[in-house]
Amino acid sequence: MNERIPQSQPFATPTAERGTISAGTSASGSEIRIPYLVKRGRVDGPCLWVNAAVHGDEINGVFAAQRFFDRLDPADMTGTVVVTPVANVLAFGERRKTTLIDSIDMDQSFPGRQNGFATERAAAALFDRFGKSADVVINIHTLGAPFDAAPYAVYKVHPGARVSETELLAHIACFEPTIACRMPVANAAGELPGNIAGALDYQSLSQGAIAFMVELGGGGRLEEDHVEHGVAGLMRLAGKIGILAAPADPISHRIRQVTTRAHRLAKAGGLFEPKVLPGTAVSAGASIGSVRNLFGDVIEEIVVEADSWVIAVRRDPVVHSGDRVAFLATEWSDVDVAG
Ligand SMILES: [Zn+2]
Repeated sequence: MNERIPQSQPFATPTAERGTISAGTSASGSEIRIPYLVKRGRVDGPCLWVNAAVHGDEINGVFAAQRFFDRLDPADMTGTVVVTPVANVLAFGERRKTTLIDSIDMDQSFPGRQNGFATERAAAALFDRFGKSADVVINIHTLGAPFDAAPYAVYKVHPGARVSETELLAHIACFEPTIACRMPVANAAGELPGNIAGALDYQSLSQGAIAFMVELGGGGRLEEDHVEHGVAGLMRLAGKIGILAAPADPISHRIRQVTTRAHRLAKAGGLFEPKVLPGTAVSAGASIGSVRNLFGDVIEEIVVEADSWVIAVRRDPVVHSGDRVAFLATEWSDVDVAG
């Protein structure tokens, strides 16, 4: 599948191993250690790297990555699976997206800096170890804790990538996402600002890998359905890329590709009540929810101007002016991708 991989090089025996990567020490002297798991099949082949909790409060991905790893038998495998279930151990321990040490977004910090800020050091340790040898990289995210979302995928287009956008979508289809969002790398209206080029998937594309993000629900909790959705997707992907025997259930070749997204923000503070579910379409002119003040009066009806797809909707009702109440897709098309 990737010309960099020497095919048919037999391993001595199928193996499983675990360990940690050091990313410095904390103030109290304990080592900052990023855990990893590796299984190698009977025969050499592609390397799949599944990374989770690059944002420390995104828990569903940790479970999905661990369960996927548990269900692999090295004797049935060709090639290698690497799982890093908690990439951002500092933020994970703090139940936060980013660590209080530097408040830097780890998924905007790749390929990392060995002598940089704490988060950049951890990103460098991780990327140096696995980012340069993986053929396929899946970075599992969730939305933040205040949101509910249906599973979806996000990908970027890199000018130096070996993989075409259509091929990328064909791999994304393994996850049967409700939508696949093409995220611009330059800061765009409607997206959160930041160094998008520092995302793990983008940097992995630059290394010649197939790489994208899978979004599994909301943060700060365990959502059983979304976790199993992620595991099933990883299993189908492992079949598609030849690590496991081809999947028994066919992969859907229809993908809803989103090209423009927008956050809806509350104008005034109060309590938000949603009227829509994530993973559904709403028509222009419809309300997706309302905000009441503390006297109980509806002070804002949140109406969509154009036909929209609800990516995520706020579950935590308490909002200030400017808080996000929904994340919407505003332009999309259904595309057929090759199997
Ligand atoms: Zn995230």
